Amino acid sequence: MADPAGTVFDVVILGGGSGGYACALRAAQLGLTVALVEKGKLGGTCLHQGCIPTKALLHAAEIADQSRESEQFGVRTSFDGIDMPGVNAYKDAVVAKLYKGLQGLVKSRKITYVEGIGRLAGPTTVEVDGQRLEGRHVVLATGSVPKSLPGLAIDGDLVITSDHALRLESVPNTVVVLGGGVIGCEFASVWKSFGADVTIVEALPHLVPLEDEASSKALERAFRKRKIGFELGARFSGVEKTETGVRVLLENGKKLEADLLLVAVGRGPVSQELGYEQAGVQTDRGFVTVDNLCQTNVPTISAVGDLIPTLQLAHVGFAEGILVAERLAGLNPAPIDYDGVPRVTYSEPEVASVGITEATAKEKYGADSVETVTYDLAGNGKSQILKTAGFVKLVRQKDGPVVGVHMVGSRVGELVAEAQLIYNWEAFPDEVAQLVHAHPTQTEAVGEAHMALAGKPLHAHG
Ligand SMILES: Cc1cc2nc3c(=O)[nH]c(=O)nc-3n(C[C@H](O)[C@H](O)[C@H](O)COP(=O)(O)OP(=O)(O)OC[C@H]3O[C@@H](n4cnc5c(N)ncnc54)[C@H](O)[C@@H]3O)c2cc1C
Repeated sequence: MADPAGTVFDVVILGGGSGGYACALRAAQLGLTVALVEKGKLGGTCLHQGCIPTKALLHAAEIADQSRESEQFGVRTSFDGIDMPGVNAYKDAVVAKLYKGLQGLVKSRKITYVEGIGRLAGPTTVEVDGQRLEGRHVVLATGSVPKSLPGLAIDGDLVITSDHALRLESVPNTVVVLGGGVIGCEFASVWKSFGADVTIVEALPHLVPLEDEASSKALERAFRKRKIGFELGARFSGVEKTETGVRVLLENGKKLEADLLLVAVGRGPVSQELGYEQAGVQTDRGFVTVDNLCQTNVPTISAVGDLIPTLQLAHVGFAEGILVAERLAGLNPAPIDYDGVPRVTYSEPEVASVGITEATAKEKYGADSVETVTYDLAGNGKSQILKTAGFVKLVRQKDGPVVGVHMVGSRVGELVAEAQLIYNWEAFPDEVAQLVHAHPTQTEAVGEAHMALAGKPLHAHG
């Protein structure tokens, strides 16, 4: 590391997760001098405790399902069980390789990487272990950590968060997952595939409650078929330790016995005792508040990623980091349209969406001004080859562009790339309908849904 004493950087970034490192890479690319401060591992939650390790587990889970269910494809295999140390070694190797690559990338862009716990010491200063880093601008990117509920203590053993769940040495026999959002559904899916009995407890009326209700219901149907249990509209009231694990108590009087309780009730911002308030940075329930260009109320300070009240997704962090770097370099970046950000739950089946839900569209445009079409994957050749069920649902402003795409089914996360182009380019159904999709692919379902909405359905009844 170069000695930063006496240097005034163009930008000092506090936190080296998705938001912070993306900002650092883009700023350096634009010729700015950058210091990046990280107390843990470069890459943050996404690389070490989030996206990457969970998706490795989900891939191992898919292989377990395929080997268990291979006979329906005429392939004889025997499923001997899950070797958790082996799964962990695979997962950790994926993370280690990406980590090494990222460290090399940061080095190659000549970013001054500072290891240690940083603290905002003023509008242009970050202090790390007594060392002061001065910047023309400071970017706060300290991310988030798992939350719990009042009175629910995480012990890391029987009552765990996603951080602990990623390091389990064996597969539990029974698990209760508190929270039916993305993280809860992904772990429920993994553990079921690994052979555990799983029950999800969700206080709201549906799983993945931020999704279009049709997607939530389809996921619930699929989970029911997979014998993943769930209690919807059910509030947690307490947890007791038992001889074999935990007893989870619900306000509706039900008691669920399990080896483990995974608490997946959301993530809270890391903003306490970091000097933010002393520097005059405004926060709301711990989240740093920003304008639509990620600038805080202090002109020299920006904030990105899970620390600000936008979607808690790695690619949102990347986009915000890039936006801030470009703004600080004097470019004129456009604000992010958060509705246009793709969202994927990587469970089996997957849930993917971009744009707004039918309910939101009806609120926004009026119920009579919204049209929808749902194309069932039963009509899609590749989906039948994969033996998956689900749909592509389109929401359209009448006589206007497509404003929402909602999909459920194995591998539909990959279809969201086209869906996001459709939404963000404000495409009309007939414009997409004339694009030719390769056969047999699941992307055809996106094409077919648009053909139906344009009034010329091909492989569809009615
Ligand atoms: C289980 C799980 C699965 C997920 N799956 C996905 C997914 O599939 N797709 C997706 O898009 N998103 C996913 N996410 C969300 C994604 O991980 C986050 O949105 C993303 O990591 C946020 O990036 P960030 O830079 O804001 O924060 P973080 O990644 O949390 O990074 C913040 C960094 O700041 C550092 N830091 C904090 N305080 C200090 C300090 N005082 N001094 C120095 N450094 C400090 C931390 O060590 C950390 O490295 C998942 C999250 C979890 C938990």
